[in-house]
Amino acid sequence: MALKDFDKKVALVTGAGSGIGREAARAFAGRGAIVVAADLNEGGLAETRDLIVELGGRVLTAATDVSNEAQVRDLMIRIEKELGRLDVAFNNAGITGQAHRIEDYPTDDFDRVIAINLRSVFLGMKHQLPLLRRAGGGAIVNTASVAAITGPGGMSAYAASKHGVHGLTRVAAMENAALGIRVNTLAPGWTQTPMVAQASAQNPGFAQLATSAIPAKRGAHPSEIAAAAVWLASEASSYVMGQMLVVDGGMTIGGFEI
Ligand code: NAD
Repeated sequence: MALKDFDKKVALVTGAGSGIGREAARAFAGRGAIVVAADLNEGGLAETRDLIVELGGRVLTAATDVSNEAQVRDLMIRIEKELGRLDVAFNNAGITGQAHRIEDYPTDDFDRVIAINLRSVFLGMKHQLPLLRRAGGGAIVNTASVAAITGPGGMSAYAASKHGVHGLTRVAAMENAALGIRVNTLAPGWTQTPMVAQASAQNPGFAQLATSAIPAKRGAHPSEIAAAAVWLASEASSYVMGQMLVVDGGMTIGGFEI
C-alpha cells in the first residue's frame, strides 16, 4: 500500500510551477498531503495542479512572488483561512541569474538574485514559522545548491545567495529545534530542469563539460531531488536539524577517479 504519511498535513511548495518544485508538489500529494503550490508562473502552476489532480491529490495554487513580503504574508493568511494549518514548507523557488565575473556583474542583477533566492527564504520562514508553531510543529526545507559549498566562476550572486540560504537555515533550526520545528537545507547538484536546459542552451560546451565531470556521469532527474526534500520534511528524518543534504551524483566528493 502506498505510504500516506502526510495525510491531513498541509505542505507549501514554492517554485511549484516547474522542475524540482513541481516534482516535490507531486510527491507530497502522492504521500497524502494537501499541497499549496506557489509560483510566479501561473501557466506552470496550472500544469502542476492538473498533474496532482490526475494523481487523485489535493492542491491549492497561489500566484505569489516569493521576494515580495506583502504577497508572502497574504499567502500565509490565505493558507490559515482556507486550510487551517501549515505543516511543511519547501522554500524552493529560485533563479540562476546571469554569468559574469564579479568586476562585470551588474549590481541590479546581483540584488535581484539575492532577493529571489535569499530574501525569499527569510520572508518565507518569517511568515511560515508562526503557522507551524500553531500546528504544533513541522518542518521547513530550503533549497540551496552545490553552489552553497563551491565557488562557481561567474555565479557570484547565485553562490552568495545559496551560501546565505544555509546560514538562514541553521539560525532557524537553532531557534526552533525545541519547538518541534525542524529546518534543513537541500543542496541539489546538476538537475535536468528547465532552469538547466536554458543555461545549457546558452553554453552547450560548459553543459557537456559539467555533466562529464559528475562522478555519476549524468544530471539528476528532478524527482530524485524531490524525494530528498520529502524525506527531510518527513518523520523519517525526525532527528535531522540544521543540516545540508547534498544530492549531487558525487559532484562535490572532490579528489580524482583512478
Ligand atoms: P525551474 O526554473 O525549473 O523552477 C523554478 C521555479 O521558480 C519556476 O517555476 C519559476 O517561475 C519560479 N520562480 C522564480 N522566481 C520566482 C519568484 N520570485 N516567486 C515565485 N516563484 C518564482 O528551476 P529548478 O531547477 O527546479 O530550481 C528550483 C530550485 O533548485 C532553485 O532554488 C534552484 O536554485 C535550485 N537548484 C537547481 C539546480 C538545477 O540544476 N536545476 C541545482 C541546484 C539548485
